[in-house]
Amino acid sequence: MARRPPGRRGGAPVTYDAHDDDDLAFDTLQLHAGYDPAGHNGSKAVPVYQTAAFELGDFDRCVRLFNYEEDGHSYVRFSNPTNEVLEKRMAALEGGAAAVCFASGMSAISGTLLNLARAGDEIAAVKTLYGGTTTLLADVLPDFGITASWVADPADLDAYAAAITPRTKAVYIESLGNPSMNVIDIEAVAAVAHERGVPLVVDGTFATPYLLRPFDWGADVVCHSSTKYISGHGTTIGGIVVERGGFDWRNGRFPQFEKFLEENAAFIAPGALLHTAFTRRLRMRYLTEFGGHMSPMTAFLTLNGVETLSLRMRRHAENALEVAAFLESHPAVLEVSYPSLPSSPYHALAAKYFRRGSGAILGVRVRGGLAGARRVLERVRIFDYMVNVGDTKSMIVHPATSIHHGLPREEQERAGVFEDTLRLSVGTEDAGDLIRDLAQALEGAAPTAD
Ligand SMILES: *Cc1c(COP(=O)(O)O)cnc(C)c1O
Repeated sequence: MARRPPGRRGGAPVTYDAHDDDDLAFDTLQLHAGYDPAGHNGSKAVPVYQTAAFELGDFDRCVRLFNYEEDGHSYVRFSNPTNEVLEKRMAALEGGAAAVCFASGMSAISGTLLNLARAGDEIAAVKTLYGGTTTLLADVLPDFGITASWVADPADLDAYAAAITPRTKAVYIESLGNPSMNVIDIEAVAAVAHERGVPLVVDGTFATPYLLRPFDWGADVVCHSSTKYISGHGTTIGGIVVERGGFDWRNGRFPQFEKFLEENAAFIAPGALLHTAFTRRLRMRYLTEFGGHMSPMTAFLTLNGVETLSLRMRRHAENALEVAAFLESHPAVLEVSYPSLPSSPYHALAAKYFRRGSGAILGVRVRGGLAGARRVLERVRIFDYMVNVGDTKSMIVHPATSIHHGLPREEQERAGVFEDTLRLSVGTEDAGDLIRDLAQALEGAAPTAD
């Protein structure tokens, strides 16, 4: 993006606005992108606009606002200045054109899918997805006439091609599968989807834009649960959708976008309307009318997390690799799923996509079956027994009896969940402490009793 001409800050002329320079490195953008204190009484912290609504000003301005002819805020459910900073910052970090905040990751994902598909349409999706998304696709959206066309094997490019029918409106994948940590060849999948006029949507929650920017590999939309690493402090539920910009919504597959573009052509500059059609329609239709907006206080807390995202992700990934290597060498451990390990079947893909490390979630199969897994859960001291991931504090869970509970056994196993599988979310504690904790929890486990 081109740099702006010299601006004014607090009345004094300045020649450079860091907040508006997308060429800066990630570590700088996460602190400055999208926020200019000059418009906010010079407040260095992003202010929390804790109001329900904004004065409209004069009659003509109200008309312009409601035509989306003028950027501005009227009612907090539609937009507000605190969320706008988070949206601009996430768009900058992802290398995208625009973003929309939601109340949760699930409201971001459901809004995204409803923006793409209508009754009678399909979403081509892999099965190695977050449990909530799988349930949404398998059990909730079908009641609205939207069905999933499942990609049999996420590693098989032909399976994506086979899953795309004339009714398919998106291919949906995750940057790192859960909990088998499978890596998908995003660039190749994007090409298969684009050949057929279909956009690629990636849930980037486990990777964050610091470890993987799906737009660099051809994705069109990225969804995040900001509850996890984006916030990092484990205090705040939130979600964000980012759009790359430039997908051709007039390719014949998306009549709802054609109608939307037509309806708004009189007011919004054609370039801006086309380039950010996805997030504009998402905000005007699904954020506004379903009402799952992120509160400004949540946006503020999330921004506090974003400021340290790269620092935390570096540490998370370093710790995860150390813990994974330790576990892999332990006689009571059957298997460790972590793409950066040389033994991982995804090692080559991780070398392509995850040069800064492949996140901090590990799938671990221990000896001794269900009893073996239970024994570890009951003995860990630093790892907390929780279903969450992406906190700075380490967590452990037994997926078969929690997040994947209720799925038939074959479905669980296809997602990499066995009765002896534990999922670890490796935090930013001292790696030595984490390894000693796991060592004592595994101590005395029968190394040969399967
Ligand atoms: C947690 C999570 C979600 C759902 O997000 P919420 O903020 O809990 O609604 C979606 N996808 C992934 C990969 C997640 O980890």
